Amino acid sequence: MFILLGETPTTVVNENCFQVGSTDESILWHNRYGHLSYKGLHTLTDKNMVFGLPKISTPTSPCEACVKGKQHRNPIPKRSNWRATEQLGLVHADICGPITPASNSHKRYLLCFIDDFSRKAWCYFLVEKTEAFYHFKCFKVLVEKEIGFPIKCLRTDRGGEFNSTEFTDFCKQQGVKRQLTMAYTPQQNGVAERKNQTVMNLVRAILTEKQIPKVFWPEAVQWTFHILNRSPTLAVKDKTPEEAWSGEKPSVDYFRVFGCVGHVHIPDAKRTKLEVKSTSCVFFGFSQESKGYRMYDPIAKKIVYSRDVVFEENRAWDWSTDSQEKQLLELEWGNDISTTEEEHSAGQNNTGDTDVILPTEGTSDLERDLGAREGRTRRPPYD
Ligand SMILES: [Zn+2]
Repeated sequence: MFILLGETPTTVVNENCFQVGSTDESILWHNRYGHLSYKGLHTLTDKNMVFGLPKISTPTSPCEACVKGKQHRNPIPKRSNWRATEQLGLVHADICGPITPASNSHKRYLLCFIDDFSRKAWCYFLVEKTEAFYHFKCFKVLVEKEIGFPIKCLRTDRGGEFNSTEFTDFCKQQGVKRQLTMAYTPQQNGVAERKNQTVMNLVRAILTEKQIPKVFWPEAVQWTFHILNRSPTLAVKDKTPEEAWSGEKPSVDYFRVFGCVGHVHIPDAKRTKLEVKSTSCVFFGFSQESKGYRMYDPIAKKIVYSRDVVFEENRAWDWSTDSQEKQLLELEWGNDISTTEEEHSAGQNNTGDTDVILPTEGTSDLERDLGAREGRTRRPPYD
């Protein structure tokens, strides 16, 4: 079950941690974790915060993608005056968008909820901002059932989507207190706004790395939330947001490099004797519900879930063969904020958008796009 690689183990961290001194293995985990800093990876292993992460060694040569991203590091924000003392004491919400290109299922907005106490985050994808009310109700039921008590306070900006009469009335009826930040002052709603910035940077980086068409941004966002919920955050001491939320230390042994190629095994029952035993797909994350890898088959243009996948993490799918029409598409967040504040916040998809991927209508011209965006893709500011 355990893989012993490389140099002589130095310290035994945890029986669930592999002992690894291998640089290749460390670089692989740096990539799987969406270019989380080596310091962040060390924090995870040294403080025993996750299961399944090997002991990481810091490579001598820097990561090209991180250098290209200019290793941007924002200053650590001032501590906020007030922090929730338990789950759901305060929930931050924000909408980001419109995002172009729209996803294959026409999603243009990202709605993000963050639990202040644990910094666990959830994402929803919307076609129109007005859908925020519906998704808030879904989110509220989901988290309250899980934790066993209600959301006490909701902090948003004064955007119309959070302040419609029906939204306001619903919160009143449900006894949810409101905190409204000033319009156009993202600093006040800092936690949610910074989360969007972190997510946006990471999404750009992981789409670019494997040259994935930008229309798949919801897939990247969902995986980014998943990674961030399992990454260190300054706001929570010695725990990942996932553990601070649920009390359970997460396992990350299923992490793979987003967008890499994987060969999904086809069960005997589903194929004739002459058919191949596997089909090549692209890794788009992991489903907690199905306990399987979320794999996209670019030929059949559908998502499949499987536990039986052989990965080639260094390989990227050649999307150019599938593009019917090349377009210059830039991934843009409509309310891209320029705040210099940052923190280690973290996120996860709980439900995600089950955004069933439809046939790709025109993929981006990634070559040009890459050139245009170089220097803008910044390293995710984890620490
Ligand atoms: Zn890197």
